[in-house]
Amino acid sequence: MLYDALTKIINGMTGGPTMTPKQVCVVGTGYVGSVTGAVLAELGHRVICVDSNPEKVRQFTNGPPFPLLEPGLDELIVRHRGRTLTFTADLATAIAASEVIFVCVSTPTKLAGLARGSFDMTYVDLVAREIAKHARGHVVVVEKSTVPLRTAERITEILESNMNGSGATFHVVSNPEFLAEGTAVRDALEPDRVLIGTKPGDDFARRVMDELYAYYPREVTLHTNVWSSELAKLANNAFLSTKITQINAIASLCDASSADVTEVGRAVGMDKRIGNKFLGAGIGWGGSCFGKDVRALIYLLRNHHLEAEAHFYEAAHDLNYALRERFVMKMHQSLYSLRGKTVAVLGFAFKPDTDDVRDSPAIDIIRMLAEEGASVRVVDPAAGHKVKEFFPDGNAPAERIVVVKDALSALTGADALCLCTEWKEFRHLDMREVAKRMNKPGWVFDGRNIYDPQAVVAANLCHYGVGRGVRRP
Ligand code: NAD
Repeated sequence: MLYDALTKIINGMTGGPTMTPKQVCVVGTGYVGSVTGAVLAELGHRVICVDSNPEKVRQFTNGPPFPLLEPGLDELIVRHRGRTLTFTADLATAIAASEVIFVCVSTPTKLAGLARGSFDMTYVDLVAREIAKHARGHVVVVEKSTVPLRTAERITEILESNMNGSGATFHVVSNPEFLAEGTAVRDALEPDRVLIGTKPGDDFARRVMDELYAYYPREVTLHTNVWSSELAKLANNAFLSTKITQINAIASLCDASSADVTEVGRAVGMDKRIGNKFLGAGIGWGGSCFGKDVRALIYLLRNHHLEAEAHFYEAAHDLNYALRERFVMKMHQSLYSLRGKTVAVLGFAFKPDTDDVRDSPAIDIIRMLAEEGASVRVVDPAAGHKVKEFFPDGNAPAERIVVVKDALSALTGADALCLCTEWKEFRHLDMREVAKRMNKPGWVFDGRNIYDPQAVVAANLCHYGVGRGVRRP
């Protein structure tokens, strides 16, 4: 289907901008950059992906296995690698050869100083200085990383003040990424929108971006000014994360009453104005983006003296993180104490279909369980190997945390099942088999509300779901 669409574009049959293969450089091959590079190659461009980590470059050049798990990515890379897609650590040469440069490096939260909470722009600034030194001719510099408002001005200033007489002309564009890990390749090939923010009057940048993205239907392409585009990314994640937090706030009330949050969520989601996505209650959101982007938005609002607005997002942010402790507290109360108990934690990644564990709720939950004296067995189909990075041997409470290969082994002789990530393989556990293997009375603490409480109770297990209360056989 993709190739049909591409052929049409190449033949100029869409009536839209004609696809012109571009020489593209993608800087940073993390979850965003690797997908961006592979998808641009799939769209017919010549792409050089650069990463400062030589081990990543080696893995992308020789793998699979690749340094990260993203469904569909391996296939795209293997299809184009060595022809229109290459990987290198040589940033200078890649920049000099490119007419469009995507900045996809990380923008983590600043942890200290007056601007703490905002994005740490160290890596973006560094890349901008390199572009200034090595670029040739007219170059479009694309902000793909999530960045603060007015970053286009910041990058332009760095570019102009670090030029080495190369005579390059720079066009800075905001083109935020909305992909979700786990579905990133599909999201990038079939996006809800392609947002392109250009500076007023920069027709060159607009034309180049339109040609680059000629594959996408015109109705999903949205042109805005550069500042709206930068802010839209933060606004988008603020909406998504607060929607989840809203259903979690309602879940807390359900727990305190006889309402069931899954029923409440279904009723609310049938309102077309609200929609039924992101209404699953549980232990809250994690991942590398929501927390970081909401914190940056709070910082931005405070910087503009918008205290009440900042307070609104801060309350949602704090509630999200409080849910992790509340879930552990529920286990502590239900088991009377966690000391000496064995808990099988199912899931370590922040969501299914990824090996990304950044800000995963499971990390905090495992830490609290172990600190309370429980023995913790962790299972994750893709991210189990990362557990010891967070709980290195020799450091308390790592001695009480082990990684186990599969759920049933982890559950054998366990007092509690603690579901943190809704991987497919955890959804289909045979609860009767689980009950046979667990100590009595076995408890299922469902942090993502994936299990049918009746089926769990029928298997002679106790059940707690977030916002669904406790049920016993
Ligand atoms: P990541 O940490 O997975 O990847 C960043 C990569 O950049 C790393 O491989 C790192 O080695 C490389 N890098 C750092 N400095 C470099 C330099 N000077 N030269 C070359 N390479 C360098 O991060 P990510 O998850 O891909 O996110 C990247 C950006 O995209 C962030 O701003 C993030 O907020 C944003 N974003 C992420 C997602 C997501 O789901 N992960 C979605 C949308 C937007």
